[in-house]
Formats: sequence, structure tokens, C-alpha cells
Amino acid sequence: MIWNTVESASREAIEAIQLKRLQETARRVYALNPFYKEKFEERGITPEDIRSLEDLQRLPFTRKQDLRNHYPFGLFCVPMSEVVRIHSSSGTTGKPTVVGYNAHDMEVWNEVMARVYTMSGVGAEDVVHNAYGYGLFTGGLGFHYGAEKVGATVVPASGGFTDRQLMLMRDFGATVLACTPSFALHLAEVAAKAGSEFRKDYKLKVGIFGAEPTSEGLKKEVAKAWGIEYREVYGLSEIIGPGVSCSCSHSDRLHLFEDHFLPEIIDPETGEVLPEGERGELVITTLSKQALPIIRYRTGDITSLVKEPCGCGRTMVRMESIVGRADDMLIVNGVNVYPSQVEHVIANAEGVTLNYQIIAEKKGHLDKLEIMVEVSEEIMTDNVGELERIRKEIQASLLNNLYINADVKLVEPNTIERSMGKAVRVVDKRR
Ligand SMILES: [Zn+2]
Repeated sequence: MIWNTVESASREAIEAIQLKRLQETARRVYALNPFYKEKFEERGITPEDIRSLEDLQRLPFTRKQDLRNHYPFGLFCVPMSEVVRIHSSSGTTGKPTVVGYNAHDMEVWNEVMARVYTMSGVGAEDVVHNAYGYGLFTGGLGFHYGAEKVGATVVPASGGFTDRQLMLMRDFGATVLACTPSFALHLAEVAAKAGSEFRKDYKLKVGIFGAEPTSEGLKKEVAKAWGIEYREVYGLSEIIGPGVSCSCSHSDRLHLFEDHFLPEIIDPETGEVLPEGERGELVITTLSKQALPIIRYRTGDITSLVKEPCGCGRTMVRMESIVGRADDMLIVNGVNVYPSQVEHVIANAEGVTLNYQIIAEKKGHLDKLEIMVEVSEEIMTDNVGELERIRKEIQASLLNNLYINADVKLVEPNTIERSMGKAVRVVDKRR
């Protein structure tokens, strides 16, 4: 089932919508917000210069810091009397990021969340147990109103209270679980303690998970623990909240609702737009938001985009599950490396744990990469031959998959330096 026929429209039709809406958005921010007007003027352009989608590249980037600098409502493009909702993300340092919605924006949000639910096979017969936090974060209310829009029954459980959540899921017959993957796993572990056959007590068929970086390993674990289909949702409050993209039944990649959000992939170092399929930083321009339209927002998330049609019938561009953060990127002899990619290789190796450390150094003019990996407790550390085989396998896999020539060292459990209980992932001695 597809919620809106636009999701399977032709490329030409999608691009026609995008261009029209991009021009409207450019006119809107230029006319209504001094911040954007100044940024456009700095580049010597006006909204009339946007004649094709390629002209998007002439527009300035917007960064999280711009939102903070104009705290709280400085980037809004409507009077406060028109704003019907405020959300905010907590900042670990300084002021939070504040976002606002008018009635039209709420419709857009509910529409994209309805697409997410429909893509996940959720409809009027379903009971959605929503354990995303309700409040200033966009998760709870975003998932809530989208579920109502498709006619499902929503249980607004919010976070915490594991035992009570499990009771509600059981007694109300939840068929859909919406929460972070780590909370889903926690719920499963607590439920399993009540009895190994616990899954019989629940009617769950699908989970819609997001809001935190998630390894393939964790996804599999969550799906297996509950015996459900795993759907991944992506979003961020600066763009709208959850509902920017979602994975379908045919692909691990996430369909991005590009009639509302125009994506680009750029080289995070140079800002240059990269060709289709290449990995880089995701940049999004909102196409239909009115209260807080945003031009070329630097998400900091690393992914890639492909436009080829999907088996599910949707034509909307598909993004790869986020592979890392632009801030974490290491450049090693000209090759971009993300710790999450290294982690993925290690996760697929046997006899080792996910406690690893990447050490980058200069040797002459070249970069040298050493990767220390702690072996698991079970492995016989005196079996030198076996250890050497594992080590070589990881080294070969890094070269084949990531094109990096790294020196892999296996070390005893609990030997890598830890910070707040977690192994320190990257030590860059070149800086
Ligand atoms: Zn699909």
C-alpha cells in the first residue's frame, strides 16, 4: 500500500514539483527573513535566479549554529500568531535549537508520517504503542498524529516505566511498536525474563524505529528479539521531525519524501555536491514548510542517495541508513573513513568484540592507520595461529570494503582506554 500517488510519480513529475516549491521557498525566505536576505545578497543572487534544480547549488548553506544564533524565533517566517506548535532539541552545549510549525506545516508533517505508517503496513486495524518521548522532542507527537491520520489506535505511552509499558502492550494488543531501537531491545529483555515464550503474549508485527544511530547488528537483534519486521525512520527537528524518510518492505534504504524535502549529498570538507551514489553529508532544503523553511541545511549525517526505482513501486529517492557523522570523518591518504564503517567490518568478524580504537599517525608524508581490537573472552588467546587468521581477515576486509590499508592489532579484553565506560574510538595523532 502507498499512501500518496506522488510517492510513485515519474522523475520528471517529482522534479517539476521540486522546482516550483524551491522557487516558492526561496521567495518566501528572501522576502520574510533578514537572515536569508543577507545571505542571498552576499552571494549576489535573488530568488529569480533559481531557474532549475541545479541552481540550488548557488544558495547558501544553513547550519545548526545559525538556528542557535537566532534563538529562539529569529529564523521564523510567519508571525507568532500563526505558529501553532513549538519543538526544541536539547543542546549539549549552549542554547537549544527551537523549531516552529504553522497549521500548514502540521498537515505536511502528518502527511509524511502517514506515508511512514502506510509504508510499514500500518492501517486502521492496528494498535500503535508509541514509546517515543512526548514533549519538546519531535518523536512522540510526530508518531502520534501520523498514526491517527492513518486511522490506527494510538497508545501514547511515552518513555520510561518498562513494566507498565509491557503490560499495556500485552493488554491492549499492540501490533506496532514505535520507539528507539535500544528501548525496543530493553523491552524485549525485560519481557523475556518473565518467560522464554514471551512473544506469544504479544501481537506485535512491526516496529518503526529511529532517533539514534543504529548498527546493522542491533537492528537484527531487535527484529529477532520481538520476531517483527524492522522499519527504520529518519528525521530531524530542524527539517520537520521524524518522517523525512523511511525504509520499505523491499529495501534497507529509506525512501526520502523528496516532494517536501530536497536532498543533496556534499563533500563535508569542500561543500561540493557529489554524484549520485557517492557517500557524503546529507543536506536538505525544505520545500513546503512555511513557519521555518530552511535552505540547504547541513545535517552532519553521512549517507548516499540512489534514484533507481524500488520493488515496492515507489520512485522516491532512497538514502542509505546513516553511516556516521561528518564530524567523525577521518581522511586517510585521501580516502574518507567513518568509524561506523570500521565498526561494521569488526562486527562481521569472529572472535572479537566491538571495543576497538582507530589510531591515525603520520609516517613521513603518508598517513598510517592502526586499529586495535579487543578479542572476546571466549577466544583462546594462546592459539597464535587462530588469532593471526582473524587479524588477517579483518585487515583484508578493511582493504576490500573500505579501501584502507590498516595495521590491525588484536589485544586482550579490557585493554583499550575507556571514557565513560566506552572505548575511545578514534585517536588522531596527526592533529
Ligand atoms: Zn521501496
